[in-house]
Amino acid sequence: MELSELYTAAKRKAKGKREKEKGKKVYKTIANLTELNENEAMRIEKIELFHIELPLVHPFRTSMGTEMGRKIILIKVTAEGITAWGECVAMSDPFYSADTVTSAWHTLTRYLIPLVLGKIIYDPRDMVDLMKPVRGHVMAKAALENGVWAWFAEATEQPLSVLLGGVRDRVEVGVSIGIQPTIELLEERVARFVDEGYQRVKMKVEPGWLIEPIERIRTKYPDLRLMGDANSAFTLEDADLLRQIDPFGLLMLEQPLGHDDIANHARLQAQIETAVCLDESIHSVADAQAMIDLKAGRIINMKVGRVGGFSNALKIHDMAEAAGIQMWCGGMLETGIGRAGNVHLASLPNFVLPGDISATDRYFSRDIANPPFVLNKEDSTMTVPTGKGLGVEIDVDFIESLTTDRAEFS
Ligand SMILES: [Mg+2]
Repeated sequence: MELSELYTAAKRKAKGKREKEKGKKVYKTIANLTELNENEAMRIEKIELFHIELPLVHPFRTSMGTEMGRKIILIKVTAEGITAWGECVAMSDPFYSADTVTSAWHTLTRYLIPLVLGKIIYDPRDMVDLMKPVRGHVMAKAALENGVWAWFAEATEQPLSVLLGGVRDRVEVGVSIGIQPTIELLEERVARFVDEGYQRVKMKVEPGWLIEPIERIRTKYPDLRLMGDANSAFTLEDADLLRQIDPFGLLMLEQPLGHDDIANHARLQAQIETAVCLDESIHSVADAQAMIDLKAGRIINMKVGRVGGFSNALKIHDMAEAAGIQMWCGGMLETGIGRAGNVHLASLPNFVLPGDISATDRYFSRDIANPPFVLNKEDSTMTVPTGKGLGVEIDVDFIESLTTDRAEFS
């Protein structure tokens, strides 16, 4: 039996936390006796943080102003002479989620890194327990944990997708189109993306930008896989209005109601035929359980940063699959590090719908990881990297040149 299997068996047998600790000790003893392959466990020796600003092809407009670059935190994890990278997907402002670049930097440097530095990790899932004292701050946790997942994939010389349990070598993808000034401009954008080969289009919707735009696009493209994303722009009182989109055969309506309101999504789903998809509402395994139990939707948009890392993403994946809830992989304007992670994750069996993972050149003319991700036009897919770890080459010199702030812990 492989060491990792022994460990998994010990963990499965263990009931309480103390028992689990015993399981780890047994594993460690066995490992020492059998001259543990260094790749089977690691002690986190060094963690480096880089706050970078990566220039965007199209400036990103928010209600606070226009950002010319994606401000983002990258994490470099070093152990046993091997390095791996993670990325914190938090945005500059708390408009999608409570996490921001600034709050994540604070949480990482003040709390999370001290909790994990120097600790021996047998399985990347151990990171969840180590970081448990800190509540919330899912994106900061995910960045650190995902760096450790990438490290294990690197150290065991397998693609991250294999470590996560992926089954596909290509993943289906689509584009997301923001609210446009006119329906004509929306039509132009959809036409351009369809020409480029994208077979699934998501359009943002809100009160006043719902029925007519959907009807126009649906009439022009009867077979296009079309969906709407409301980013919490409606209330339950709009149920009658939202029911009017049922005849257009959308793949789904994403997050119509409040970001923190699972119960009312259940009330809405009972009143409309279109499948409700939850995005902003799912921050944890418990949220996913609540959605399933309450029948608050039929689809989950999985953003690994929003659920605290790959470990929780995998748990939610398995729960959703068992409950007949379909999944797809969302996007957070990631650099090549996060984008690679998304592509690996989307190769898992229950990611049965196309993800929001667009080609790199839609966002960046030069990325910090190579090669850039490109669309396979013939089938609207992206190829899962086959190299070890994230399967992309990190351009450290470029990262250095973009770095506006840094921190190192060892
Ligand atoms: Mg969304």
